Amino acid sequence: MTDKHQQGWQLENTYQHLPELFYSPSEPAEVEHPELVVFNEKIAAELGLDSTILKEKPEIFAGNHLPDGSKPIAQAYAGHQFGYFTMLGDGRAVLLGEQLTPAGERYDIQLKGSGRTPYSRGGDGRAALGPMLREYLISEAMHGLRIPTSRSLAVTTTAEEILREEALPGAVLTRVAKSHIRVGTFQYARQQGSKADLQALADYTINRHYPEIAEDENRYLSFLYKVIEKQAALIADWQMKGFIHGVMNTDNVTISGQTIDYGPCAFMDRYDPKTVFSSIDEEGRYAYGNQPGIGAWNMARFAESLLILMEDEEEAAIPKAKEAVETYVKLVEGYWLDGMRLKLGMMDKGENDKKLIQHLLNLMQQYQADFTNTFRSLTLEQLEADSKLFQSDAFKKWYQEWQDKLNNQSPSKETAHQLMKQHNPSIIPRNYLVEEALTAASREQNYQPFHDLLTALEDPYAYTKEQEKYTATPPNQPYQTFCGT
Ligand code: AMP
Ligand code: MG
Repeated sequence: MTDKHQQGWQLENTYQHLPELFYSPSEPAEVEHPELVVFNEKIAAELGLDSTILKEKPEIFAGNHLPDGSKPIAQAYAGHQFGYFTMLGDGRAVLLGEQLTPAGERYDIQLKGSGRTPYSRGGDGRAALGPMLREYLISEAMHGLRIPTSRSLAVTTTAEEILREEALPGAVLTRVAKSHIRVGTFQYARQQGSKADLQALADYTINRHYPEIAEDENRYLSFLYKVIEKQAALIADWQMKGFIHGVMNTDNVTISGQTIDYGPCAFMDRYDPKTVFSSIDEEGRYAYGNQPGIGAWNMARFAESLLILMEDEEEAAIPKAKEAVETYVKLVEGYWLDGMRLKLGMMDKGENDKKLIQHLLNLMQQYQADFTNTFRSLTLEQLEADSKLFQSDAFKKWYQEWQDKLNNQSPSKETAHQLMKQHNPSIIPRNYLVEEALTAASREQNYQPFHDLLTALEDPYAYTKEQEKYTATPPNQPYQTFCGT
């Protein structure tokens, strides 16, 4: 027996052991006519949930019925949004509880788009179908790309219209994450709570995500280093796959190191560090090339919020915090370099590697080459005859240098290309494909393109024949994504 309906729920609500300032009880709003339009059976199985029963229970994923053991809350947090500090909180999401999986892991189960909460400010608490399908698709694609991410369990339509610039079909996303504790949660604790409140949050988070440092002499400094390490690895990973998050505000930076909040994110097509898709990011603060640096800024904000825990006197903690943030800069650079080496099959480290990698990137930018497909072509040793990059003399010279490097290293060239296949995805969720799939689903209730794309993205390193049609580059038009969706 699992729960009394045998759906498999094993929910706990440990977040509610924290002081009350960290959350507000908040029931999801009842919707008119819930219908489950997408359901992730694989994650359901990992969570220990019974898909057969739950697929018939859209009312659970719309928020009309609470699963056994759920005590829903909205979480409080703050955040620097585009550099400016603001009080926030779950304005359109509720945490149903933490599911304990058969493997002994703990995952937050959150409904997003489930109505107003005490933190909704002026918002309606709702979400539109298109953006919720988008989060589902991109987060699952990120998982396929092996980038740490929140996952998506279900999308439920509500049969209610929500008002944006036009009337749109409403939907609720069921999101699964290691936790939703953010840098912004710590900023909130530092601003609004006592030292004891901040300490309670830090201890809770350490026990949940980094229990191995719980007994360290200065566990809060160790904690800072752990989070820095995770964020450096995560952001280097984004750079490696051409992913642009779009809103790297501190409220969207998790302490667990998972990517969350798929608002205006998108994958880059042509390589250009200045690439930005978000309609509101006019200054390019969160452009592709800025992401590693913004990570440092965000880690500095995290460090600031921990200072009073690290030393009795805040002043005394500052040099330690600074040193920690400086390690972030080295780490992200190191992870980036190691990752780029793997993308080029360079297994023996050499002094000139960085120069060689940067030279290729410069040429890609100059010839407006597609990021994913350039590495795909190099992996497959198929240098297309109609590619301006591949036909250029400068590239041919670079290629020779690279070949010399591969020929002179101890592992064979076959081994190098095997490695490249594991690190260069054959496909990514290209913006135009995502849009096509979302339009068919949200405007025509045709979910076939969505499911086909999702299936292709399950293993982007498979290099199968079926995946080939998704490698086509987009029609040449600017792409924009939107916040507050
Ligand atoms: P985001 O840009 O999605 O990270 O959201 C920033 C903040 O705005 C978060 O606190 C959200 O909960 C809140 N928010 C976004 N959309 C809505 C909405 N429709 N209603 C209420 N709050 C919202
Ligand atoms: Mg957010």
